[in-house]
Amino acid sequence: LLSLEEHDPELFDLIEQEKSRQWRSLELIASENFTSRAVMDCLGSALTNKYAEGLPGARYYGGNEVVDQVEALCQKRALEAYGLDPEKWGVNVQPYSGSPANFAVYTALLKPHDRIMGLDLPSGGHLTHGFYTYSKKEGTRKAVSATSVYFESLPYRVHPETGYIDYDQLERDAGLFKPAMIIAGGSAYPRDYDYKRFREIADANGALLMMDMAHTSGLVATGELDSPFEYADVVTTTTHKSLRGPRAGMIFFRKDERGFESRINQAVFPALQGGPHEHQIAGVATQLKEVCSPDFKVYSQQVKKNAKALADKLTSMGYSMASGGTENHLVLWDLKPQGITGSKFEKVCDAVSITLNKNCVPGDVSAVTPGGVRIGTPALTTRTMVESDFEQIGQFLHEALEITLAIQEKSGPKLKDFLPLLEKNADIEALKVRVH
Ligand code: PLP
Repeated sequence: LLSLEEHDPELFDLIEQEKSRQWRSLELIASENFTSRAVMDCLGSALTNKYAEGLPGARYYGGNEVVDQVEALCQKRALEAYGLDPEKWGVNVQPYSGSPANFAVYTALLKPHDRIMGLDLPSGGHLTHGFYTYSKKEGTRKAVSATSVYFESLPYRVHPETGYIDYDQLERDAGLFKPAMIIAGGSAYPRDYDYKRFREIADANGALLMMDMAHTSGLVATGELDSPFEYADVVTTTTHKSLRGPRAGMIFFRKDERGFESRINQAVFPALQGGPHEHQIAGVATQLKEVCSPDFKVYSQQVKKNAKALADKLTSMGYSMASGGTENHLVLWDLKPQGITGSKFEKVCDAVSITLNKNCVPGDVSAVTPGGVRIGTPALTTRTMVESDFEQIGQFLHEALEITLAIQEKSGPKLKDFLPLLEKNADIEALKVRVH
């Protein structure tokens, strides 16, 4: 019955340090958020002790009469959150996270080596949508995620000049490649998706349409972005980004004669996973209750307003935003005009307690040296920040960029010469104090 602090002070201290880091820094990673106390209560609850292989009402273990109700409640709230008719749509809430959710869909609905088309990683897609690296020297390609190991992928891209998905090129390529599935959605795309166009391209080629709304699922639930459910066959999501729940995943599927329900349920368990994490599922359930509240609608609206305020502030200072701005929760800042890489800027931001990540931007030649950074607003909006706060953040970022340029002036272009100059740099120390 010892607390963590009494039982393991070393680990307790590390967690306290991380808590302090999260609260002292400006958290701008687009895929992160701060969960509520109610969600944390679920994660640390007795549900973590229970095995529950199977589905509510049909388990391979005894003692699941309470857990069944928890999971059924989560399913019900998930369908309600997206306004879905339970006769037409079902949901599996057991995926441990977003990547296994996506892989379960592929194994349920495709055969090994079937063809798929997802947004390319350097264009803002996710690894699980199929991605290869290419060696020009050796003339080879390497599958980076299990998706591209087991399926044949031809990624589509954003237009290098506009930063918007190049639907015309996707249409031409799909006509030649004839994919079995087209995957919409991404991790670093600042615009909404044209689901009708995706559906038309899928239909013209007999392909299924999957939407991975991991990043935007909170904004979709509150109607702040278009809903994919009218057009997609399957929709996957994580639950810990703009939805603000615990780390987990969900798969929504159409209930019709194609039998997706049993294929997807079986792909999750027993094909890919074992016992579901019912403490996570409870956390998702309680978060979905919040998602349906008027407060969460206000939160989602503020997430978008804050992203726009930041994009406008940076643009007004002469900087370049990929696609010219944002319609969602993130901004993709193209640093190529400033002549610095995303890696260097990320390091300086880290040093001043601003947490963001380097990211490819349209027109990058190599995914290894990303030309920009991705900046998201969900986490700091949870901490009640509004447009004026994000204008101040824009100012801090501008100052961090000036510091980056000054250091690069001294170090030259190599990161290994750049990093040592971050130590004991007076400008960094001064900006860090103001950020705190
Ligand atoms: N899909 C998208 C679009 C994502 O952005 C991510 C994670 O960033 C995932 C899937 C994978 O989620 P997880 O990291 O929970 O496996």
